Amino acid sequence: MSAFDNALRQLSRAQAVFPFEESFIEKLKTPNHIHEKNVMIDRDDGSKMDIEVYRVQHNNARGPYKGGIRFHQQTDLQEVKALALWMAIKTAVVNIPMGGGKGGATVDPKTLSKTELERLSRAWVRAFVDEIGPQKDVPAPDVNTTPQIMDWMTDEYQKLTGDKTGATFTGKSVAHGGSLGRDRATALGGWFVFETLAQRLGLLGSIKVVIQGFGNAGATAAKIWSEHGHKIIAVSDSRGGIVNEGGLDIKAVEAWKEKTGKAEGFPGSRAVSNEALLELPCDLLIPAALENQILEHNALQIGAKVILELANGPTSPEADDILFDRGIAVIPDILANAGGVTVSTFEWEQNLKGEKWSVEDVESRLKKIMTEQAEDVYRLSQEFGTDLRRAAFVLALRRINEAIK
Ligand code: GLU
Repeated sequence: MSAFDNALRQLSRAQAVFPFEESFIEKLKTPNHIHEKNVMIDRDDGSKMDIEVYRVQHNNARGPYKGGIRFHQQTDLQEVKALALWMAIKTAVVNIPMGGGKGGATVDPKTLSKTELERLSRAWVRAFVDEIGPQKDVPAPDVNTTPQIMDWMTDEYQKLTGDKTGATFTGKSVAHGGSLGRDRATALGGWFVFETLAQRLGLLGSIKVVIQGFGNAGATAAKIWSEHGHKIIAVSDSRGGIVNEGGLDIKAVEAWKEKTGKAEGFPGSRAVSNEALLELPCDLLIPAALENQILEHNALQIGAKVILELANGPTSPEADDILFDRGIAVIPDILANAGGVTVSTFEWEQNLKGEKWSVEDVESRLKKIMTEQAEDVYRLSQEFGTDLRRAAFVLALRRINEAIK
């Protein structure tokens, strides 16, 4: 099943809990616009390289399309469509004035030099310049895209259009109009949701945490949870994972990864595959890498008590059912990782108003939103006797439906 199939099934599963009109759900199964192009970039050696680039604009009933751009070798249109649908749901779950969209490029950015990456970033903007803008569609970082890339994109957009607001892209560096706190926002938002729900989901005191993925979301989560006295017993990157049941020193793991390029081989740890890592006994499992990790075939082996999804789409609907039957709560992506787009929206607002908010201000606003929406999602799950994902979908769909009407 592709990620998009999963996203469509999640919509239908929400409808089984709450009887939305068929025509409304049908409308949300198709994106408003799909833009797919081929760009050619110059390689440093003088050769040319063809790259597929995408922007999918799913729904803008609640505000401009909003969502990141992913550079990954496995990215394709189906994946971007799924991610765009999830963005439309996510922005509604946290009730920020945005719709949902997503972009991408099918490329392994690790094979590009810095100048090639800059050319690709600028070419992406030239491909979609007419489709984006502060009141139209506001892209941001996602897997493998960084503040530096957002700065190049903003610069290219300004050159092409004369825009002075800088509000077309979020996740920029602070020096170029980015918001304080955006770098930590995805993981910190997840932390606020965890703090709100942990006790009710049976997690008390210091807990054992396993994290899959050591990009912006995963590495920052490792730091935040360990700063709060929890034990990170395993982490991984795309090459594989490391385990130490006694707890990993996260700052030292970061330094090791910086030096060697991978987590593997970290002194005092043993190696574990990304698959096996998901099955380690622990209190909290945080998938923070890619979609389709927890599936029908391994859901029975998951060793965690609670799952908090910082990745988009890591759990399939079949796995959701198995985990629900096993009493393992899944705090879904559309709530758990919504801190990123929330602070992106703060960035957009600051750019449009010409303001600069302090990090304390950003984080206290983020906390308020994440806490309130986590409460709402939990309450609905109790009311409908369903899992947190379906409850979050119902909450979001009601808001989108109201906006459409
Ligand atoms: N890529 C992030 C996500 O999946 C952030 C999107 C944004 O900041 O617009 O939510």
